[in-house]
Amino acid sequence: MIRLFILLFLTTSLFGARVETFRWSSGETYLTFLERNNLPLRPLYYNLDGDEQQLSEEILSGVHCQISREKNGDISQVFIPLNDELQIHIYKNNGQYLFETIPIISETRTEAFTLKIEHSPYLDIIRETGSKKLAKIFVSSFQNSLNFKNDLRKGDTLAMVYEQKYRLGKPFSMPTLKAAMIEMRGKKHFIYLNSDDRFYNQDGNEVEGFLLATPVNNARISSRFTKRRFHPVLKKYRAHQGVDYAAGRGTPIIAAGDGRVAFIGETRGYGKLIKIEHSNGYLSLYAHQNSFKKGLRSGSAVKKGQVIGYVGSTGLSTGPHLHFGLYKDGRAIDPLRVVQVATKKLKGTERTAFLKLKSNYDQSLNLHVTNETKFTRVSMPDNVCYFFNGEQCVQDKLDSES
Ligand SMILES: [Zn+2]
Repeated sequence: MIRLFILLFLTTSLFGARVETFRWSSGETYLTFLERNNLPLRPLYYNLDGDEQQLSEEILSGVHCQISREKNGDISQVFIPLNDELQIHIYKNNGQYLFETIPIISETRTEAFTLKIEHSPYLDIIRETGSKKLAKIFVSSFQNSLNFKNDLRKGDTLAMVYEQKYRLGKPFSMPTLKAAMIEMRGKKHFIYLNSDDRFYNQDGNEVEGFLLATPVNNARISSRFTKRRFHPVLKKYRAHQGVDYAAGRGTPIIAAGDGRVAFIGETRGYGKLIKIEHSNGYLSLYAHQNSFKKGLRSGSAVKKGQVIGYVGSTGLSTGPHLHFGLYKDGRAIDPLRVVQVATKKLKGTERTAFLKLKSNYDQSLNLHVTNETKFTRVSMPDNVCYFFNGEQCVQDKLDSES
C-alpha cells in the first residue's frame, strides 16, 4: 500500500514538472554531481550498499541524463543511465531524497539493408545510413578474417542484419550485428553471431577477434556479467559490469592483453584499481587488488600475460577476488565473450544448433540481397514508457534528445 502511494505520488509529481536533458561531462563523478546540485550525500550515496556505490562509479561521460525540477527549482527526479538496460533514479518523496536503480525501457528492432560498394564498406555504410556505429560493427567483425583493402571490387554487394535499440523514439546504444555478408570478387563471405555471443564463419569456425588471456590462473568464476538482474531478496535491480574470479589473497593478476596502463590507483568502490587501454577501443579493468606490481605506473606499456598486481579485497569487497571488467568504446561488455577458450570450432549439438541459426540468417540475407533492401530508419511511436520503476510508468513527456 505504501509502495502504491509512492508510485501515485511519483506519477503526479512528475506531471507538469520541467524536464531537462543533459550530458554527463567527463571528469564528473557521481559524488561531484550530487555536491554540485546540493543533493544530500548520505541517503544518495553513503547509505547505499556496496554494490550500489560501485555502480555509481560506472557512469560514462557523454551519456544523456534527465533531470526534472519542481516549480521552485528544486530537483524532483534524476535519471542517469548506467548501461543500456539500467539507470539510477533519484527522486524526492515527502521531502526526502531516495535512490533506486530501475530498468531503462527501450524497444529492440531487427533491421537489415544491402548496398553496392563504391569506395569502402566503412564509408559506404556511413553514406547509406548516416551511422558510424553501423559502419564500425560491420568492419570490426570482419577485420580479422578478411582484407577489404586488396580484395574488394566496385559494385560488390554487402548485406547486414542487426538489432537496434530505440529509446524516446531514437536509436540508442550500440547496434548488435547478427549476420553479415560481403561479396569480394564474386565470392560471398559470411559471418554470424552465434547464441554463445561469438562470431563464426559459414564453416562454424570462430572468427578470431580481440582475444584476451584469463587474468587469474585456475580461479573460479564467482559472479558473471549482467547489465540488469532483479535481486529477489533485496527487491532491487542490480548490474554487474564484469566477471569476478575468486582466488586467494596474493594470487598474481596478469594483463589480459597488450596495452598501456591508463589508470593505477585507489578508488572507494573498486579499491586498488588498474585500467589498461588496448587497441581497437578496448579497455580492461582489474579491481580490489591487494597490491600492484612494483614499478608499474600510469602510461607503462604492458604485455599480455605480464603480472600487474595481486588479488585482494580492497574497496567495497566482501572477500579476496578479482573483479575483471572489459569496455569496448566506453561500454561495458561481457569479458567472457573475448576471453580465450580452448575450443573455437563448433562440434556436435552446438554445431547443429549453429547450422540451424545460420540457415535462418542465410534465408534472410539472400532475401535482402535479392530485394536490394535499402536502409530505412523506422520512426517509433511516442506513447512508449521509457521510465519504468519496475511496476509502473513514471514518465512525463520529455524533450527527446537522447
Ligand atoms: Zn565484481
